[in-house]
Amino acid sequence: MKVLIAEDDATSRTILTSVLTQWGYEPVPTSDGRQAWDIMQQPDAPKLAILDWEMPGLNGLDICRRIQDMGSSNPPYCIVLTARDQKADIVKGLDAGANDYMSKPYDKNELQARINAGRRMVELQTELLETKNALAREAMHDPLTGALNRRAVLEGLERELNRAERHNSYLSIGLCDIDHFKEVNDRYGHQAGDVVLCAFVKTVQHNIRGHDLLGRYGGEEFLIVLPESRGGIAEGLYERLRTRIADTRITTPTGEVGITVSIGVARGRPGIAVEALLASADAALYKAKHAGRNRIVYASDMNNK
Ligand code: GH3
Ligand code: MG
Ligand code: MG
Ligand code: MG
Repeated sequence: MKVLIAEDDATSRTILTSVLTQWGYEPVPTSDGRQAWDIMQQPDAPKLAILDWEMPGLNGLDICRRIQDMGSSNPPYCIVLTARDQKADIVKGLDAGANDYMSKPYDKNELQARINAGRRMVELQTELLETKNALAREAMHDPLTGALNRRAVLEGLERELNRAERHNSYLSIGLCDIDHFKEVNDRYGHQAGDVVLCAFVKTVQHNIRGHDLLGRYGGEEFLIVLPESRGGIAEGLYERLRTRIADTRITTPTGEVGITVSIGVARGRPGIAVEALLASADAALYKAKHAGRNRIVYASDMNNK
């Protein structure tokens, strides 16, 4: 584990660097506070830091305060190691955000024990954060296809509608329903049907942009949200998607499957509610199905700006 050492005294720095190496850590020595702060902001910054109090540039407590101000969910563990040994100094150091405080001259075994305690905290914190992120991901995604789930895509749509309203920009949604999907299940089996759903999602994901949303709206129905899409751009994307789907052969354990998709497209106007927008797209999808499937129908109010 990397440990940042911020210490302006060369001798102390050299000693710390060598003992940390002995203890199995990877020391990152710096001689002034500003350099230490720069290192701590890098993406792979050390998660443990030993900070001297008085240093040129920024002092150790300034660094602790800045770290606190960042409000990171996984901040580095900071040990202030300083010649200041008054009770009031210790209080000041901890109040500034230090996790631990040690006075110089220090006992080596004690320092090692405190650094090890810091490492355990960092490992625990990292593990908790990973679990939290994994749970948050799970709560938002459909387990079969990896697309957003219904709730997450609707929340995303609500957010994008609000944003479009604030920026007076456009947004379109496409409600996609795989044609005759029941027949796929009937002919190739449910497992093949699952493979087809995953392949469909993959194709859509390859054809949308990073800020577009794709969610599983129902069994074989998916919702695409294209923020800031002016009519032409959105139409191009839905059409490209429809063609790609129709042109793709999907390999399943029970044979190659070809599918088509019908899409109902509606555009968000200022003030429109999520439900009304969805109802427009749904009505357009219904028309697409009745007009023969494998096609896109734009909601009749799409040209009213
Ligand atoms: P249409 O063109 O009118 O949309 O016909 P369809 O057969 O696609 O529509 P219908 O609503 O009759 O059938 C949808 C089918 O999707 C029925 C259901 O069993 C299947 N389905 C829903 N979720 C899943 C899933 O997770 N896996 C599989 N394999 N099938 C699913
Ligand atoms: Mg100093
Ligand atoms: Mg269907
Ligand atoms: Mg359906």
